[in-house]
Amino acid sequence: MTQVPAGWCSPAPVCRKTAFVAKTRPKMEDCAQQTPLFTFGVIADIQYADIEDGYNYSRSHRRYYRSSLQLLRNAVESWSESAVQPEFILQLGDIIDGFNKGRGASERALDTVLREFSSSPVEVHHVWGNHEFYNFSRSALLRSKLNSTLHTDRSLNAAPSTSDVYAYHFSPFPGFTFVVMDAYDVSLLGREKTSELYNEAMTLIKKYNHNEDLNCPPGFEDLRQRFTMFNGGFSKEQLDWLDSVLTLTDEKQEKVTIVSHLPVHPHSTDPICLAWNFDELLAIIRSHSSVVCYMAGHDHDGGYCRDKDTGVHHLTLEGVIETPPDSNAFGTVSVYKDRMVLKGNGRTRDRVFLYPQSQSDAEHRAV
Ligand SMILES: [Zn+2]
Repeated sequence: MTQVPAGWCSPAPVCRKTAFVAKTRPKMEDCAQQTPLFTFGVIADIQYADIEDGYNYSRSHRRYYRSSLQLLRNAVESWSESAVQPEFILQLGDIIDGFNKGRGASERALDTVLREFSSSPVEVHHVWGNHEFYNFSRSALLRSKLNSTLHTDRSLNAAPSTSDVYAYHFSPFPGFTFVVMDAYDVSLLGREKTSELYNEAMTLIKKYNHNEDLNCPPGFEDLRQRFTMFNGGFSKEQLDWLDSVLTLTDEKQEKVTIVSHLPVHPHSTDPICLAWNFDELLAIIRSHSSVVCYMAGHDHDGGYCRDKDTGVHHLTLEGVIETPPDSNAFGTVSVYKDRMVLKGNGRTRDRVFLYPQSQSDAEHRAV
């Protein structure tokens, strides 16, 4: 099958509206003198392959398949040399490119990339994207080094054990929970054609996409563009699990960050990259008080918005694969009691994420 449209997400520059503008703009310097509770690194869409540079589907963006490894090396070095060692790294999916599969190089490319990560002792939490499924079956991924639940000393809580969904949560620091979600749970990728979830995915995509090649987006101008084969969705079982996790974190008044490969807020991404049932996940986030941030990859141009109803920050991280060799795209997040501060590198810009409750306090004080 063609690999080209995968990650083809931004044929034209899009206006990334900021859904909410804080009355009092938090500043990076506010935290410069404070010691964070902990820090963590974020990086997305490395898509390494040992091949010459290429272009995305619309030929608007160059893809640096080999150079992405060097950019990862630079990121890992930066994290290793930082004054405060990151507690963990979030790798937001598409770690190697689908082109590896056709060349019989999937295992070799994965080993090469993981070797870069392992040059640092910092634990990595891997998210799965569409390119993971171009290279490996779901059952192979569950047994692989990309299944972070198998390769950590940390106490993790996995999603329902009866399913093969790749979702779990962990707490790196008292009062803070991170939830990894599986955005290809309902998908044409990685699911057996005889399975219920594959059929559910096929019924859904066919309702909107009548193209022969389902990687080709339907010709809508609106959010229905998302019904392509390189996207996917969250099953009801996984959403129910998330709902139950967030009920507990609400009770404990924790701060929750959800991470997955696909963005779920229409203002944080080109609509062509949204999760199929982004609205259902957003509704769950909106029904709980503990979520402060949602992080994703997939849209190589990146994006950001703050949900106007909840104050939750939605960050889509720029993809390493479309980052020139003299730049980079990764971030280090410092976590404080009332905010997270993203220190970006290269294409990734600095941002301050005040927690929703802290934001209203700050506004109240400013009046
Ligand atoms: Zn992707």
